[in-house]
Amino acid sequence: MNKVDYLRVSLIDRCNFRCVYCMPEGADLEYLLQQELLTDAELLKLIREVFIPVGFTRFRLTGGEPLLRPGVVDLIREIVSYPQTEDISMTTNGFLLAPLAQDLYHAGLKRINISLDSLDGDTFNAIAGFTGQTKKSRWGEVWSGILAAYHVGFDPLKLNVVVIPGVNDHEVLDLAALTIDKNWHVRFIEFMPIGNGELFHGKGWIDSEFIRQQIRDRWGLISAEVRGNGPADVFKIPGAKGTLGFISQMSECFCDRCNRMRLSADGWLRPCLLNESGQIDLKTALRSGVKSEELQLQVQELLTIKPEINYKQRESGTNHGIYHRTMSQIGG
Ligand code: SAM
Ligand code: SF4
Repeated sequence: MNKVDYLRVSLIDRCNFRCVYCMPEGADLEYLLQQELLTDAELLKLIREVFIPVGFTRFRLTGGEPLLRPGVVDLIREIVSYPQTEDISMTTNGFLLAPLAQDLYHAGLKRINISLDSLDGDTFNAIAGFTGQTKKSRWGEVWSGILAAYHVGFDPLKLNVVVIPGVNDHEVLDLAALTIDKNWHVRFIEFMPIGNGELFHGKGWIDSEFIRQQIRDRWGLISAEVRGNGPADVFKIPGAKGTLGFISQMSECFCDRCNRMRLSADGWLRPCLLNESGQIDLKTALRSGVKSEELQLQVQELLTIKPEINYKQRESGTNHGIYHRTMSQIGG
């Protein structure tokens, strides 16, 4: 059985982007009200008094867009100060990163994943939902954020690419080439129909193996390792400084390797990304005065039944279900 010691924490459900595969413009998303979010004090209490005691030692801050959360630098500094914290990382769209990179790094964040679906401003805008009147591309700010993170010293620095057929799949080789001269880790993610089944009609995703074959044909491809690779299968172009990861939830279920749980910004603990069973509402429990020891027992119980939930997911043989929450709401 996998040790489950990794918690993905959504700091906020809102975002400054409207990615077509996550929270498309016009989608009927209900945002949380401020009072529904876990406060900093509640979140830190849950980490310190509930998650760490039951064995969680690695934390990833995500969202929505985590850099929109006021006080994010202080939150990181506090989580890093807990002696049991072995690892803290963040997934961001990078738009607000350039001016914050140094402070985040000094607060103790050393690993960062930045989403970058395209190297072309117009394609980037189309994916991130900046159409119509919003002509100015946000690509430049994101690229500056990536360079700032690189110069500050983030290592590993990972770039997440969701590959969408007919939209950015022609850029796969250009994105892979970023790993040749720099110690960057580009990870190709198969699009998942989470919260946006409509985009999935026909075949909305591209097999990782198809992408690997394109790269193999161009440069060759060998197996590799990178720290904190999680569900990714990792390779590299021979002689390259960085690596290429493939997250293939659609074509190759990796449920049996799952080592994580997710905490939403409103305090729901979710044992499986693709499956809504078993969730617990930690915020309501906390606010109604349930003791940390009792919450530890509830989380422990969820850890015990997690393999069964993963197993059911695997046995269902499909990831094409109906999902009520988008990645931005779950904390992807
Ligand atoms: N806003 C941040 C960002 O975009 O990096 C963090 C949150 S976002 C939900 C985390 C990751 O989930 C991003 O790399 C994004 O590309 C990915 N993602 C979102 N929706 C997805 C989907 N339907 N299928 C696959 N990946 C998705
Ligand atoms: Fe925002 Fe990230 Fe979702 Fe894009 S993928 S809409 S940046 S939360």
